[in-house]
Amino acid sequence: MMLKRALAVCALLGCAVLPAADGAAQVIRSGSSSCKAVALTFDMCPVRVGAGYDAPLIDMLMDRRIPATFFLSGRWIARHEAEVKALLAVPFFEVGTHGQAHAHLPAQDADRQRAEISGPVLTLRKRYGYRGLLFRPPFGEYDDTTEEVARALGLRFILWNVVSGDPDPRLSPDRMLEDLRARVRNGSIVVFHANGKGLHTRAVVEDLSQDLLNKGLQLVTVTDLLDRCNVSADHAPVAGNH
Ligand SMILES: [Zn+2]
Repeated sequence: MMLKRALAVCALLGCAVLPAADGAAQVIRSGSSSCKAVALTFDMCPVRVGAGYDAPLIDMLMDRRIPATFFLSGRWIARHEAEVKALLAVPFFEVGTHGQAHAHLPAQDADRQRAEISGPVLTLRKRYGYRGLLFRPPFGEYDDTTEEVARALGLRFILWNVVSGDPDPRLSPDRMLEDLRARVRNGSIVVFHANGKGLHTRAVVEDLSQDLLNKGLQLVTVTDLLDRCNVSADHAPVAGNH
């Protein structure tokens, strides 16, 4: 029954992937450890006060041509039409979704989870002509139903393996940077915020990205990390692999 309804939504969205019989989506936390690349990701959770858009951060990413992946919540999209268009216009940015109202998904029944997950996907499709194929659950919280719904909608389920902690006002930029430098490695997916909640996000991302490039790590979108990782010849996992 639930799968049938999910398929109906799927037909509406034109899903890329048909649901598997068991309905389980693969929860992705990182790329391959043989991949000398890192994906910097930025959540756009809805905010009650403030602009909800970290313009200095996004300008810096654009100026330095740093590939980035943004996860937009439906409520955020509703209040940021110009900003959505600006993000979609940058060829080295990728956009995914982050739930409609930033709800705690495991607390909801299947129908409500489906509405929460599919809401911003439909908005991006209908209003912006954009097909967002990546999904990140609000708070990183999910259960079996969340995985089933995401799978039925043809979405890739993206978490992270490194948390920046950028919304924490007690965390100094030096401390955040030190911690990130110690934990980010090949294939990492790092989570930040670009909704203005991170006081030091721009400075930290600027320093970290330079540091990673100096170490020979490429900065890529999540999809490139997962699908098009260019492993350098001396680190190729399989000899002669093209
Ligand atoms: Zn969020």
